[in-house]
Amino acid sequence: MSARPKKYDHKFKVHLLGDQAVGKTSLLLRYAEERFYRTYDPTLNIDIKYRDVEYQGKRIRVELWDTIGQERFRSTISATLKDIDGVVLVYDVMDSESLVSLGQWIADVERRCGDVGRVMVGNKVDLEESSGDDITASAACELAVEKGIPLFKASAKSNHNVEHVFDELIQSILDCKAALGQSASRSFESSIVTLHEDPENQADVSNTVLSILRKCLC
Ligand code: GDP
Ligand code: MG
Repeated sequence: MSARPKKYDHKFKVHLLGDQAVGKTSLLLRYAEERFYRTYDPTLNIDIKYRDVEYQGKRIRVELWDTIGQERFRSTISATLKDIDGVVLVYDVMDSESLVSLGQWIADVERRCGDVGRVMVGNKVDLEESSGDDITASAACELAVEKGIPLFKASAKSNHNVEHVFDELIQSILDCKAALGQSASRSFESSIVTLHEDPENQADVSNTVLSILRKCLC
């Protein structure tokens, strides 16, 4: 019996993070289902959705995880950020407090997840455009530059830039994985050199090689 062909080449687990009401669930629904809800229902929380995309000739399943309404308990959410490949860090362009909080969300991601794909989103840019205010722009740029995270303004409501945000996230995830692969292969090469130069080390080398291989495969 032949095995069923896989529907995708890569599956990326992505978490949307940020304060309550910044528009995480809306961005998720817009990207996964092209839907938008006008009325705010904090209990409208989608746990997981996915969307299959083609990116640079690869079929990618983007698995989207929402924060299920527990944003005030940041540390509880951060503790659940396991095995993720990327994060969408969302603030509301009309709410400077949500940008201040985003610095803390980023710190949590750095502490808990290490090198994962990241993208920063100033959501609700349609409101900024209609009010003419630009209250968070310079602080958001500073944070993005300091942390080296690509920054986009978007709107789940008008669908402005939403596709672009997720394309950039996929690229950022691929870049992280390539960098991790390169550093693992560099340590692999250096352990071979060590073995070659110091044959008395051979007893430890098989364990080192095994642990590097494990890292490469994760
Ligand atoms: P979450 O708590 O971060 O998941 O936020 P929600 O996605 O539930 O959105 C909170 C509120 O903001 C809802 O009333 C949404 O309709 C509204 N909202 C979300 N995105 C946008 C947007 O891009 N523009 C505008 N004007 N409202 C938005
Ligand atoms: Mg939500």
